[in-house]
Amino acid sequence: MLNIDQALAAIETHVPSGRIETVPLGESLGRVLAESVTSSIDSPPFDKALMDGFAVRAADVADGQATLRLIDEVTAGQVASKPIASGEAIQIMTGAPIPEGADAVVRIEDTRIQTGPDNSQTVVIDTRPATVGQDLVRQGTSMRQGDTVLPVGRRLRPQELGLLAELGHPNVAVRQAITVGVLATGDELVTIDQVPGPGQIRNSNEAMLAAQVRACGAVARELGIARDTPEDLAEKIGEGLRCDVLLLSGGVSAGRLDLVPGQLAAAGVSEIFHRVRIKPGKPVWFGATEGCLVFGLPGNPVSSMVCFELFVRTALRKISGILPAQPTPFAARLSTDFEFRGDRPTYFPSQCGSDGEGPHVTPISWHGSSDLRSTTDANAMIFFPAGDRSYKSGEWVDVFGWTGGS
Ligand code: AMP
Ligand code: MG
Repeated sequence: MLNIDQALAAIETHVPSGRIETVPLGESLGRVLAESVTSSIDSPPFDKALMDGFAVRAADVADGQATLRLIDEVTAGQVASKPIASGEAIQIMTGAPIPEGADAVVRIEDTRIQTGPDNSQTVVIDTRPATVGQDLVRQGTSMRQGDTVLPVGRRLRPQELGLLAELGHPNVAVRQAITVGVLATGDELVTIDQVPGPGQIRNSNEAMLAAQVRACGAVARELGIARDTPEDLAEKIGEGLRCDVLLLSGGVSAGRLDLVPGQLAAAGVSEIFHRVRIKPGKPVWFGATEGCLVFGLPGNPVSSMVCFELFVRTALRKISGILPAQPTPFAARLSTDFEFRGDRPTYFPSQCGSDGEGPHVTPISWHGSSDLRSTTDANAMIFFPAGDRSYKSGEWVDVFGWTGGS
């Protein structure tokens, strides 16, 4: 049986990087950048006013008192027709380029305009001294031409789309969208709109796994329920293998009707591993065909969920070129004493928060791999190495966040 690190390494080895495609910027939200982006411009491209007011020479207003000759006006999108000299000001609007000779903007609220008998206009400032650079932003403050501004592997959010627009990218190179089929298996399952009969339960894993897929930015295809018969499994597995990744839940342990590994082999899926030394999720199965990666997740809901977080998410990140592909823990202090008993390394549903002393974490009251209800009180999982042990409040433990966060 593989240990967790070996299983994760096997996934990294067998999962290929996804294809690169170019999509219109407006369709790139949530996709992953396939190449880093270098700025072709300085931003802002010129020294620019941050306020409506007057462009001045700060030295003219050093003591907070000045009467300056108004010689021009410049609005956003224009360039002033002349430079300013000492004793002069140009009226300026937010976003307009700072005229040559000016080095500060005085806000309109701090000024008043006087018109002389010959219709000449002056600006009177008598509120506060001006300083060089006041209320303007210098060319290249936020980025310089040639700067690397977005790294490869970045998932695109609205602010990245805005930046790409600013840089003039109507199209963007991203990793392929990943289609993930979700197939529940089990004779006991009924659909979520049905009332379970004796011995039956609703198929909760399909909705949960499909949501985990979507939370990872991939496209979920819900394939319904396969019965525990070779025929039904063969048909639905065949359909699922048309996806980039196929997730099955149930049917991978040692029961008489756990037919999934055999049916996957019959469908031409090569086994890479079966069973990992982990709790929950020991029966997990992983294999591949030329075009599809296949995970057989144990049917117990929390096992399915944890195996997704560790193994499936690693595969999806590897395809998308997101580094690191493997889940990264962070350290938090236990907020309570805790008696851990377990002969396998365990991911324990927990509630993590933060206070003045940093992150802290509390194991929830959890009744094992079938207890999905309790996980709704959790936002993370604590990793406990194998072996019975009394943990003390305040001890540092490794924590893994769950997709969807708190
Ligand atoms: P299995 O891995 O098929 O042996 O199933 C283990 C446990 O998980 C059994 O109690 C099943 O009834 C339950 N289970 C299997 N599939 C699902 C599902 N899709 N939704 C909820 N529970 C399930
Ligand atoms: Mg089953």
